[in-house]
Amino acid sequence: MPSLLNPDRPPAFCPGCSHEQSLHALDRAFQKLGLTASQVVMVSDIGCSGLFDTFFTTHALHGLHGRALTYGAGIKLAQPHLTVVVTMGDGGLGIGGAHFLAACRRNLDLTLLVLNNFNFGMTGGQFSCTTPAPASVASRFLNAMERPMEVCSVAAAAGAPFVARSSVCEKDLADLLARAISFEGFSLVDIWGLCTGRYLGKNPGAPQEIQNTLAGLPPYRGPVAQNLRREYASHYREHTGGAPWEVPEIQAQFRPPITERREVVLLGTAGDRIISAGTLLAHAAVSAGMHVTQKNDYAITVMRGPSVTELIISPEPITYPGVERPDVVVALSEEGVRRRRELFARVKPEGRVVVAKGVALPPTPASVLHVDFQAWSIKRRERALAALAVVARGGDPVTGEMLENAAASTLRGKSLDSTLALLNRAETLPVG
Ligand code: SF4
Repeated sequence: MPSLLNPDRPPAFCPGCSHEQSLHALDRAFQKLGLTASQVVMVSDIGCSGLFDTFFTTHALHGLHGRALTYGAGIKLAQPHLTVVVTMGDGGLGIGGAHFLAACRRNLDLTLLVLNNFNFGMTGGQFSCTTPAPASVASRFLNAMERPMEVCSVAAAAGAPFVARSSVCEKDLADLLARAISFEGFSLVDIWGLCTGRYLGKNPGAPQEIQNTLAGLPPYRGPVAQNLRREYASHYREHTGGAPWEVPEIQAQFRPPITERREVVLLGTAGDRIISAGTLLAHAAVSAGMHVTQKNDYAITVMRGPSVTELIISPEPITYPGVERPDVVVALSEEGVRRRRELFARVKPEGRVVVAKGVALPPTPASVLHVDFQAWSIKRRERALAALAVVARGGDPVTGEMLENAAASTLRGKSLDSTLALLNRAETLPVG
């Protein structure tokens, strides 16, 4: 197979930088595996290791420092046929340590190459999570105060099923990389090398020290027997019955009942199922081929505080998702009303405000429809949905049939039965 290196962008590292050897070893590994450029994604983050993707003709994604594994995970879940190779330096590895542990624990089929040269080369040679304590680096004594991270042992302890330690001096590096890439599951290769630009000058004995250190560490050369297990994405698909990225599509099966954009705001208190009702309304609107935005506002605490959902429903694409002059407001609690008090003066005069009995409203030019939910034994958590059924009586912005269809598409069993019964009852609720 031909090289996947980009002939128009030759490697541009400092003279003698070990990254160049790793780059060519990786290219040879791709060739050994017969991979074409369109089958491979190179994912990188910040630092000199972050230049790797630019030297190949493969797909590429370059992102924030320490986050390369998260992008790689997303790509692999969404496009499982692609070979995903992530490069990180020891700097990025320390910054994204939690992502590293998650990748080891999760076992998604991607390969991480840690281009480990014991310092932040690109930013001036500061100490990283792997800098040896005796090393001389730009951040002076700080590395002497911390214990360096032993990457492979951490990976193995965290559950990585393929762990290998190597150096750019090893002749079989390309073979090792090919084995790591073809391993079905998460594979890590910790590749030791030297940053000639920042590290070697201050640590001239480093090459020999590195070889001595390597020789004294536990050997990691591939599969870790106690960590071998099922690959994450295939396991995930088995649970979901499909590909992880598949989102059920809402089919358009109704004609849009409106010709212009509508703004709908539901106001209540946590526990009133305000946001669930808004989501059902959104689903109903989409089932008529309309465009919808939904914006929620609620306290991060559970079961207390106001709850607000704002929807825009339009037969035309929505270019601005902010609610300016509502057509419909549902007010189920004074707490919710207080949260959007200023909104009531802006409701369109031809608009409607559906308000639960006992909730005081600020002045509004719109028609106000009072509903005594309590008198009709409609519980608090059912009122938002019941109010939507009242709104839908006029077929604007959705019809009752569309709401029932949305419920049937998203709910099952007793939950569906009780929701349909509620929608039917609410159609005849007296309003005053
Ligand atoms: S700064 Fe260090 S890691 Fe970066 S290109 Fe130069 S030698 Fe290589």
